[in-house]
Amino acid sequence: MRKIIFNFFLLFFLAHLVTAQTKNLTVAHRGAWDAPKIPENSIASLKKAITLGCKGSEFDVWMTKDSVLVVHHDPDIAGVSIENSNWSELKKFKLSDGKRMPTLKEYLKAGKKHKSTQLILEFKMSKISPERTRLVGEKCVEMVKKLKATSYVDYISFDYDACKRVMELDPNAKVSYVNWKHDREPEQMKSDGFYAVDYHFKVFKENPGLIQRFKDQGIKLNTWTVNDPEDMKWFIKQGFDYITTDKPGKLLELLNNTSN
Ligand code: MG
Repeated sequence: MRKIIFNFFLLFFLAHLVTAQTKNLTVAHRGAWDAPKIPENSIASLKKAITLGCKGSEFDVWMTKDSVLVVHHDPDIAGVSIENSNWSELKKFKLSDGKRMPTLKEYLKAGKKHKSTQLILEFKMSKISPERTRLVGEKCVEMVKKLKATSYVDYISFDYDACKRVMELDPNAKVSYVNWKHDREPEQMKSDGFYAVDYHFKVFKENPGLIQRFKDQGIKLNTWTVNDPEDMKWFIKQGFDYITTDKPGKLLELLNNTSN
């Protein structure tokens, strides 16, 4: 009997150890592009994040004048506004790897093949109008649903109301709010259905009381963009659920060393 009890506790201990070792918080910011010839927000950067074993890979979405959703960080490419140009004009421009910027459809198709890394879709705030930001959010949800990728995609945005619209269209969507300049009360965010908060790392470091307030509401914690190993350690210690970084390899290495 004693042996059975001993084996039970041994198994329990080993299971706990495995869980602790596999805890992964790493979100690659604009994919994993901290390598030669991999541009940010490219499909190559997504594939690299998947190969590294990131928990998530973040990317940015704009909508062209003729309503094509594209993956790119800046509002323009080679000085040409994405929102004010048609896709036929924009697709002529090349990224540093010689390929054009991907459409959201292409990006989701590439990400859907590998289900281990969550796709963190940021729809950008339109320079034209808040209505257009909301429309971009709606179109993103439509595309994600069409490609049957709802369980692989989380959403983030700086626009609070557009985030709420995404939750209306897909009540199961995991949505995070990122705009610390127009922050909301954790209680309000909870009642509005937010899955997570994702603020700039300085906000949490300067207001550490905020962390517990979000935890009390059961809201997951993410932060950007954490590139210094000392900051990474600080957020790991605070029990964050995600850490968004330009150095995903470094964070994964650090997490590995911490759990061993
Ligand atoms: Mg982004």
